[in-house]
Amino acid sequence: MTFRDGELELRKMVNKLRENEIITVTKASLPEFREYEELISKLWENRWLTNMGMYHEELKEKLKSYLEVGGVELFVNGHMALEMLIQAFELEGEVITTPFTFASTTHAIVRNGLKPVFCDIDPDDCTIDASKIESLITKDTCAILPVHVYGNICDFKTIEGIAKEHGLKLIFDAAHAFGESVGGIPVGELGDASMFSFHATKVFNTIEGGAVTWKGENRELSEKLYKLKNFGITGKESVEYVGGNAKMNEFCAAMGLCNLRHVNDWISERKAVYDRYVRNLGHVRGIRLLGRREDTVYNYAYMPVVFDGNIFKRNEIYEKLMGENIYSRKYFYPCVNAYDCYRGSYDPKETPIALELSENILTLPIYPELSAEDVDRICEIIVG
Ligand SMILES: *Cc1c(COP(=O)(O)O)cnc(C)c1O
Repeated sequence: MTFRDGELELRKMVNKLRENEIITVTKASLPEFREYEELISKLWENRWLTNMGMYHEELKEKLKSYLEVGGVELFVNGHMALEMLIQAFELEGEVITTPFTFASTTHAIVRNGLKPVFCDIDPDDCTIDASKIESLITKDTCAILPVHVYGNICDFKTIEGIAKEHGLKLIFDAAHAFGESVGGIPVGELGDASMFSFHATKVFNTIEGGAVTWKGENRELSEKLYKLKNFGITGKESVEYVGGNAKMNEFCAAMGLCNLRHVNDWISERKAVYDRYVRNLGHVRGIRLLGRREDTVYNYAYMPVVFDGNIFKRNEIYEKLMGENIYSRKYFYPCVNAYDCYRGSYDPKETPIALELSENILTLPIYPELSAEDVDRICEIIVG
């Protein structure tokens, strides 16, 4: 295919998308245009576009209360939030983490000069297998970085116990877990701190954006993160840290303020889509849905489905759906420890469950306005 062919192909796809003939795995949630316009029009008056402006401060307060956490610091995106959170703890050595995640989790560790050590996952819900963490602890281990993958909350009690016993920092990648809670505990209060992503494809978006949250008052962490995201500047004439630029701008914060008004409705609509999938696929032989905890309030961010590789083959289903203009995702394939950039350092066979799941899992389209008819059609194509 030449570049020109590729361009034509892409244009065709965009046209189909516009005509709603294509169903994508997700669709960015947006407020009414006039809602957003009303907020951003003020930016033409005050000309304060970034650097902790009024919308930044308002969003921070609103999120603190929505997420029911002790503190929030906003960032340009989830990845930089995680990178700077790790930097704030001034760690050295090895970080135990999961290979069944998005590139960001591991890259954030490596870009801080730390070494990821991969722990296998629990096949039931795809989160880190807490029973396998202790055997990976060495004298160099400094932290544990699990992911609430697909919004499934990790076995936090066991992991917190291990972290405490061995004096390790516990940082959660909560990019998928916006607004969730477990046994009445808000997810953003677990561990030493958590990172959320507000990327366009996530349940709650600020176009691009992210946050770090923690439990209780933590002025030290709060101030350090604030400075790190602004070049490490600590005063008019002093720069104490080698920080970067990871501030959330006012246009993104305004989008967040608008979207926060709707996010509860969107989550209920997502639940209806999720329930429809469960109704259609929950009892099909050869298909497994991931385990769900009774005590968790979910956000229905993703619709992962595991195929047995026998009656149903993941790659065949993926192609079959694509043939009908339905775009599912092999999320997460490949596992991080199989990435080209980590070749030679890791062997994905060391985490066999993650490897197997990465080859058999598919995330199906889920977003608030996906109709029951479309869900039924998607399921018929899969099963039929
Ligand atoms: C989206 C995501 C991130 C990164 O967030 P961005 O806001 O896109 O930078 C990190 N970890 C996981 C698991 C994610 O899904």
